[in-house]
Amino acid sequence: MRIHTAFALALLLTTGAQAADTESSATRIPDSAITQVTGLRERALKDDVAYAITEGLTSEIGARLAGSDNDLKARDWMIARFKALGFDKVWSEEVSYPRWIRRSESAAVIEPFAQPLAVAALGNSAGTPKGGLETEVVRFESLAAMQAAPDYLVNRKIVYIANPGMQALKDGHDYGMAAQVRVSGPASAAAKGAIGFLMRSAGSDQNRIAHTGVTHFEDQAKAIPAAALSSPDADLLDHIFARGKPVKIHLDIDCGMDGSYTGANVIAEITGSSRPAEYFLTGGHLDSWDAGTGAIDDAAGVAITTAAAHLIGQLPQRPARSIRVVAFANEESGLFGGKAYAAQHHTEIGKAVLGAESDLGADRIYKLTATVKPEARAAIAQIAAAVKSLGVDYDAAAPGAGGSDLSAVHAVGMAGLSLHQDATRYFDWHHTANDTLDKVDLEQMRQNVAVYAIAMYLAASAEGDFGSAAGAFAKQADSD
Ligand code: ZN
Ligand code: ZN
Repeated sequence: MRIHTAFALALLLTTGAQAADTESSATRIPDSAITQVTGLRERALKDDVAYAITEGLTSEIGARLAGSDNDLKARDWMIARFKALGFDKVWSEEVSYPRWIRRSESAAVIEPFAQPLAVAALGNSAGTPKGGLETEVVRFESLAAMQAAPDYLVNRKIVYIANPGMQALKDGHDYGMAAQVRVSGPASAAAKGAIGFLMRSAGSDQNRIAHTGVTHFEDQAKAIPAAALSSPDADLLDHIFARGKPVKIHLDIDCGMDGSYTGANVIAEITGSSRPAEYFLTGGHLDSWDAGTGAIDDAAGVAITTAAAHLIGQLPQRPARSIRVVAFANEESGLFGGKAYAAQHHTEIGKAVLGAESDLGADRIYKLTATVKPEARAAIAQIAAAVKSLGVDYDAAAPGAGGSDLSAVHAVGMAGLSLHQDATRYFDWHHTANDTLDKVDLEQMRQNVAVYAIAMYLAASAEGDFGSAAGAFAKQADSD
């Protein structure tokens, strides 16, 4: 009995000592920071800054195609806005990339029935010869079916990938499938000898408006004309094909590469009180496609994160670490701003303690996930508890890479936090002329500001880190 007691006592002491060890190495958010959250949340839920930035960028600048005249105008506008909002530091870091321009696009079925088609050229598409292409179209149900077909079937023809339409889903996961067709379909068709490419738009709407977006050619010299059809036009084409007669299309696209361009990431910082060199990394992308005014993609993301950082800057007591907002350059045609940021800052990646960007519109955040070191899981749970009453659930099992602009930064070792927005409406308007300010719901946008402000403030106040270090999440980044 005595032995048992002694053993139990020893066990208790050992366990106690181990618990104390784990506690001392575990990242923790101090109670004093948690108490600040109520005020931050109240102010965020009345915030007008995020909406004003979105309204300003869409009204005073409008579409912000990377490398266009509006690229520079938007950067100047954002620099002025950061300064007016009282950010402590505002600067730019150059980002260079090939410039692609769109002049015009049209398409029509000419046989067996003459019908106009609503199309949008894909970013990086080549133009057609002057006057357009007139040739037979070969239809495939999917990208995989086209890839499996013998080359002679597509040689010297326009390939059309019918692809099922996307469903409007809260997590937007159908976009992955549709975007894959857009990104790799044209190069894949070109490799088989096709001279043009058409696909059903990567969108969940039934408007007669096509969705643009980037495609990728390993060798731009081998690019072919590539465009998306609006979903009703893809349906129309399917009905025409169902007649079993040869289908001929006239495709006329005037677009193409136009040298290279040097833009910039626009960066602003709210300086931390005791560890100012370390920072929470946030932001969105300043560029947009050219048909709409780029309200939901991604003026809203820049606006939400800027407004959240601004609220933290207004507090009487700053968090220990800084809050760094990046309005990224040219996300749309290949994550150029994010890659340039990662290249420029990878040697000091440990200073970017945690990162979360906003690039899925302005609808409600419903889920939080993270990719951090195990010892920081409890601190992430503290952040999750602080945003729970805003309707945000914590999925501790799922990764959180931080978002598209931060994917390159995460890949070189930054810990990531993902604040998942409801994407149900997003892909109805994404990359179309319908991406305009009226799609932004003020109350939902304010909820975003509240969640970002709380998450940023708590992470910037944490005692201990989240695991950012050179190469720290290389494995997870591959599988995210
Ligand atoms: Zn975006
Ligand atoms: Zn986009």
